[in-house]
Amino acid sequence: MGIAENLKTIVDNIPDHVTLVAVSKTMPDEAILEAYEAGHRDFGENKVQDLAAKQERLPGDIRWHMIGHLQSNKVKYLAPFVHMLHGVDSLKLLGTIHKEAVKNNRVIDCLLQVRIATEESKFGLTESQLKEMLSSEAFRGMDMVRIRGVMGMATFTENSKQIREEFRLLKRIFEGMKATAFEKQEDFDLLSCGMSGDYDLAIEEGSNMVRIGSLIFGPRNY
Ligand SMILES: *Cc1c(COP(=O)(O)O)cnc(C)c1O
Repeated sequence: MGIAENLKTIVDNIPDHVTLVAVSKTMPDEAILEAYEAGHRDFGENKVQDLAAKQERLPGDIRWHMIGHLQSNKVKYLAPFVHMLHGVDSLKLLGTIHKEAVKNNRVIDCLLQVRIATEESKFGLTESQLKEMLSSEAFRGMDMVRIRGVMGMATFTENSKQIREEFRLLKRIFEGMKATAFEKQEDFDLLSCGMSGDYDLAIEEGSNMVRIGSLIFGPRNY
C-alpha cells in the first residue's frame, strides 16, 4: 500500500480529538510530499539537522515537530519556526528554549518528556524531578515557553500489560500536573504517547497525540 492509503487507514481509525504526528525521520522529501498532498500537515523528525533541512525544502505550512532528544546548543536552529518541541527533559534546556524564543519574538510550545519506561536507555524526567522543576523560581519566569503537556515512551517490549501500565502512569502524572502546577492553564492539554506498535493501546489509555512512522512510511533503512 502507498503512503496516502496508509495514512487514511490510520486517520480513519483514530478519534477526532487525537492529533497524528507523521514521523518522517530518515524519509525522503517525496514521501513527505505524498502525505502532504493527501492533506497531512503535522510531521515529526528526531534530528535537528534533518528537520531544519527539510523545513527549508518543503512547503511552508507544514507543522514541524521535533520529537527526538534535543541538545541545548541546537535549539537556535529550530526556534524560528518549529511547531512543537517534544522531549524537553531539563530546566537547563527549557532555559535555552526560552532565551531563543525571546530572540525570535515567538512563544514556543513544548512537551515535557516523562520517564515511564523501565529501560535505562530512555530519556525523561522522573516524577520528583518534574516537581522540583515546576516549583522552581527559574521556571516561573519563562513566559515565552508554553508547556502544552507531557510526552512519554513505553518500554520496548511485547508485553502489552506492561506498556498499558506505563501509559497509565503517564496519564496519572499528566492529570496531577493539570490539577496543580497547570491548574490555571487551559491549553495544558496534550498527552503524547503511542507509536506504530502501540498507538491504539495508548489512545485507550488517554493519549491525544500519537507519533507514527513506520505504519505510514514503511520500515526505515538506517
Ligand atoms: C521513531 C519515533 C517514533 C515513531 O516510531 P514508529 O514505530 O516508526 O511509529 C515515535 N516517537 C519517537 C520519539 C520516535 O523517535
